[in-house]
Amino acid sequence: QTIGRFFDDACARHAEREALVVRHQGVRLTYAQLKSRVDALACGLMRLGLEPGERIGIWSQNNMEWALTQFASAKAGLVLVSINPAYRRSELEYALNKVGCRALVLSPAFKTSNYLEMVADLAPELGHCEPGLLRSHRLPSLEMVIRMGTDTSPGMINFDELLRAPSREELTALAVLSEKLQFDDPINIQFTSGTTGHPKGATLSHHNILNNGFFVGEAIKLVPGDRVCIPVPLYHCFGMVMGNLGCLTHGATMVYPAEAFEPLSVLETVAQEKCTGLFGVPTMFIAALDHPRFADFDLSSLRTGIMAGSPCPIEVMKRVIGKMNMREVTIAYGMTETSPVSFQSGTDDPIDRRVSTVGRVQPHLEVKIVDNEGRIVPRGQSGELCTRGYSVMLGYWDDEARTKEAIDAGGWMHTGDLAVIDDEGFCNIVGRIKDMVIRGGENIYPREIEEFLYAHPKVLDVQVVGIPDQRFGEELCAWIILREGERLSEDEVREYCKGQIAHYKIPRYIRFVDSFPMTVTGKIQKFLIRQRMKEELG
Ligand code: ATP
Ligand code: MG
Repeated sequence: QTIGRFFDDACARHAEREALVVRHQGVRLTYAQLKSRVDALACGLMRLGLEPGERIGIWSQNNMEWALTQFASAKAGLVLVSINPAYRRSELEYALNKVGCRALVLSPAFKTSNYLEMVADLAPELGHCEPGLLRSHRLPSLEMVIRMGTDTSPGMINFDELLRAPSREELTALAVLSEKLQFDDPINIQFTSGTTGHPKGATLSHHNILNNGFFVGEAIKLVPGDRVCIPVPLYHCFGMVMGNLGCLTHGATMVYPAEAFEPLSVLETVAQEKCTGLFGVPTMFIAALDHPRFADFDLSSLRTGIMAGSPCPIEVMKRVIGKMNMREVTIAYGMTETSPVSFQSGTDDPIDRRVSTVGRVQPHLEVKIVDNEGRIVPRGQSGELCTRGYSVMLGYWDDEARTKEAIDAGGWMHTGDLAVIDDEGFCNIVGRIKDMVIRGGENIYPREIEEFLYAHPKVLDVQVVGIPDQRFGEELCAWIILREGERLSEDEVREYCKGQIAHYKIPRYIRFVDSFPMTVTGKIQKFLIRQRMKEELG
């Protein structure tokens, strides 16, 4: 099934149900209304001469236009390139040129960054040509910039104008095109988070992401009438696949609280919209739980949700279940390259498994855990997690060498993550291979030490990394964020560790900080912590 054909069926089935609520824009659309706007936009994109298979970028925070563009580009057979709103000029240039975008959908401004200015800087020709006739030497493939908002900008196409009611001929052409599209056509290029370095562009098909969205929704038992609060970014698979497609495939309502994550707007949205589900990375849940006004909001409508993207401290899981009322919350594990989810807990799994593992493998996927030589390790032992099945990406766009490194000849995606699977199939993500520390020949998983330090009552959050050391190869370093108003010394931390964890696991370097370097998806970039420590230590 293609996303476009599935979308049409779903909108017919759930016509009068609410499909999309965008709080910050005051938008409320039923599935029938969503479909008519999406069809109009798909026709608008075809009117511009965009052909199936061509790339269209979107550079914007979360809003209604994002959702419309996602579904309309799928219907028109275009490959949507999701671009991180935190990117700056040079990163935008890299992304657009890497995948050869012919069009770019642009949000005018966001917080402190002016997208229009950055694009105009790259393409000074913009103001001097007719809309749709851009020829910029910096952005050779780009021909048109489609601008959201009501202001007009010279050289740019107005988004709202593309929503003009289509003619009958245009709608017929759209229907004819829709029949021609194939389920394994590329439909989306998503960049990985860049947690370990440069983001990579993963090419995904209709089949990849539509099915994954469906199984993600199944795992949390979404049904029509469910309302899911989606504060996670849409440019990332968490928002666009798990959020939007998870809802679409179950007739649920997508609720966007704000342009970008902000704890107060999440609490308000859940309470006022009576959301039944909430998605987020652990840091978002922590921020919501610790918000000074947390107690003011009635979150009793919440039932389920997904926490994913990075390891979740067990304590946080317990608070989410207890204090946020999310008794059926699940943890999901995945990566952009696998559409994304491959493991997810079930809402009925025993609570201790649900808080301490990422659940069991999703239906229709195969997994194995291998050692350095690629041999499958016995159950209960850790090694590199590999996945195979419908969800594995088509490849990295225009990068055969890296694709071959990631997906082997047998079709196995090598995740770069260390995992253990127990006798009952529950999986524990131990860490990233790149983050494992080897100190004086001992393998140390930073996650274990993070969990230990996290349990200290004065510690709000903690990250542990390995940094190069002449004597031991690597030494451990902990970055700690203290709870508000608390004080703690390095020695007190060491005292706390003594006798509780093995001496070689006690961090040699301890730093108290206000924040961690983070991707906009809320993932902590340990490579930057390592880099900063290297600079500090010289
Ligand atoms: P890059 O590949 O650019 O360095 P990234 O791997 O963070 O960035 P994503 O594809 O967004 O980019 O994230 C996938 C990774 O996130 C996984 O490989 C894994 O390391 C981590 N991850 C995802 N979910 C979980 C989870 N539930 N528990 C622990 N780690 C997780
Ligand atoms: Mg990765």
